[in-house]
Amino acid sequence: MPLRPQRPCRAQGCRSLHRNANGYCDGHADLAAEQAKAWATRKGSGRGGRPWRRIRERILKRDQYLCRCDDCTGLGRIREAHEVDHILALAHGGTDDDDNLRAINRDCHKAKTQRESKSIKK
Ligand SMILES: [Zn+2]
Ligand SMILES: [Zn+2]
Repeated sequence: MPLRPQRPCRAQGCRSLHRNANGYCDGHADLAAEQAKAWATRKGSGRGGRPWRRIRERILKRDQYLCRCDDCTGLGRIREAHEVDHILALAHGGTDDDDNLRAINRDCHKAKTQRESKSIKK
């Protein structure tokens, strides 16, 4: 397997080169972790600080780790679920309640999000 090219660390003023996927050199791994956390909370904005990871686990378990998206349920297709989807998107006024959540396959989720972002169009 070819090595990835070395890239400069994303930390300000740091000139170390690294091959880490997170964009930071080994010395700045803590910064990378912070960055990831910041992204996670930004993504989770509007979720009122509820422990999303635990909700996610619960919903996945409830739905037996099978995708429950409209496409799959409509077609009777069985796909593994990796994520949890808001049936009514938060952007459309959906909530974090269990009955607005369902397990979804990553690809199905992507397709659905794409459809949604088109329909939201600003
Ligand atoms: Zn660094
Ligand atoms: Zn699906």
